[in-house]
Amino acid sequence: MIYDIGIDLGTTYSCLAIMNATGSPTVVKNNQEHDTTPSVITYDNGEFCVGETAKDQAPFAECTVEAVKRNMSEADTWRMTIGGKEYGPIELSARIVRKLVDDFLEKYPDAELKSATITCPAYFGPKEREATRQAGIIAGFEEVNIIEEPTAAAISYGLKNSGEKNILVYDLGGGTFDVTIMRVAENKFKVLSTDGDCNLGGKDWDAALIEIIKQKVCENGNLTIEELESDDDALTDIRTKAEGQKISLSSLKEVKGAVRIGTSTVKYVVSREEFEMATAGELQATMMKVDSALESAKLTMDDIDDIVLVGGSTRMPQVKAGLISTYPSCESKIHVHDPDLAVATGAAIYQNTRDVEVENVVDPVSGKTVEGKIAKFAPTMGSIEIEKVLSHTMGVKVWDNVEKKDLISNIIFKNCPLPIKNKGEYCVNHDHQTALNVQIFQSDFEESDDNREVAVEECEEVGSFLVDIPSDSCEGEAVFVTIEANEKADIICTCTFRDITKSHTLAAKGLLNDEQIRSARKSIMG
Ligand code: AMP
Repeated sequence: MIYDIGIDLGTTYSCLAIMNATGSPTVVKNNQEHDTTPSVITYDNGEFCVGETAKDQAPFAECTVEAVKRNMSEADTWRMTIGGKEYGPIELSARIVRKLVDDFLEKYPDAELKSATITCPAYFGPKEREATRQAGIIAGFEEVNIIEEPTAAAISYGLKNSGEKNILVYDLGGGTFDVTIMRVAENKFKVLSTDGDCNLGGKDWDAALIEIIKQKVCENGNLTIEELESDDDALTDIRTKAEGQKISLSSLKEVKGAVRIGTSTVKYVVSREEFEMATAGELQATMMKVDSALESAKLTMDDIDDIVLVGGSTRMPQVKAGLISTYPSCESKIHVHDPDLAVATGAAIYQNTRDVEVENVVDPVSGKTVEGKIAKFAPTMGSIEIEKVLSHTMGVKVWDNVEKKDLISNIIFKNCPLPIKNKGEYCVNHDHQTALNVQIFQSDFEESDDNREVAVEECEEVGSFLVDIPSDSCEGEAVFVTIEANEKADIICTCTFRDITKSHTLAAKGLLNDEQIRSARKSIMG
């Protein structure tokens, strides 16, 4: 049986949803009957463990991996040695996906793993998207579709709320913050702008609370910070309890706790007010991103019909209060929409609208090839159209002959509707040059005349390729570089010199090859 599977592969929690027999999205609870599963992996005594047990065992395990999604941008370089073997973020993320799939298969043993939709943050570039796709393939799927988390949340919200609207999705999860503005009409979802911070989320609020608690424990227990920090058990205790206490502060005005230090117990009380004051900077950082997303979409808050809050951290009262104090007119527009589940359910809906590849089979009697039949569990709801925007500004490194330094010449800008293609004209640096080194850089610069050329230090290199050219090339001869982003957000860079043209697609760079995928899949499946 084919189920429409949608997976929210989150920084701190992940979730799997399917479409049920009546065509509604439903979250499949994990084997401990919870909707979401911690994205935590531990390794101990030669065994991997993922999810709730891993989170509980983390303080005692030989090795713990948390928030691995934050390393997806370094999928080609970041490695962790576990049990004497090296693992990258793709293989580790695959273990989280596999845990969700294993729990799903326990409940739906007739399920055939064909394809799934996995979500990623809107600002993920081609490399991170490909890394996420490969994690899904390693976890056992034949095909993986990727859609952006805010788009998935908007699909799930849009389905329940008809009419043509401008929606602002404010998504504050465990490790990331994303804001996306979309025009939603029936089954059409048009992204107008997107912004975010891959290093801002509930974990930063946890860290702030840990600092407050440490300070209070020192004051109340008459300890110096060095004394407290030299007590590993006390620190582990504070860190383990902090997330739960943060969650309690969303419903209580203050939380009480106690830490054992040596032979004595030190009590403390933290008020919501203290916590909110300590995290005002983080909240403000999200509001600044909301501002820039509005600016990029050329809208004001008055043009927004609904603000959809998703991500577990939007349960903190300070989020709603912060939006209202920054944009006083927005109070009635704020909707809390299944904060933990909207992304996975939206992904399941999206998966339902995708055609399943049907393999042709040979009829044993007639010997003719006939179209295979696939039993799909949920009725198909029709198609969904999604128009995306470019997540990052893309340019190439050029030599500035006047200033005598390298610069990045931006060619396509973030938040342009996809597909987009643009050309830059450059020139050969010196006579008899035999190769052009095309280095592609991404950044967050908005489109403006001032941002056509920017400093190298403010951009990140995401790929490069060499173009061999004849040695009779002359200084100043024209070189054209085109950067194109297609509907799927793949970035293709093409360099043309005389009649020589060479193209390079960014997504594939440095990620796992087929053999590595096969071997990672084998090691996960056991
Ligand atoms: P997500 O990535 O959307 O699953 O969000 C996970 C984050 O939401 C974690 O940092 C949780 O601690 C946080 N979270 C979940 N529920 C609450 C709550 N009631 N109050 C504050 N934070 C919460």
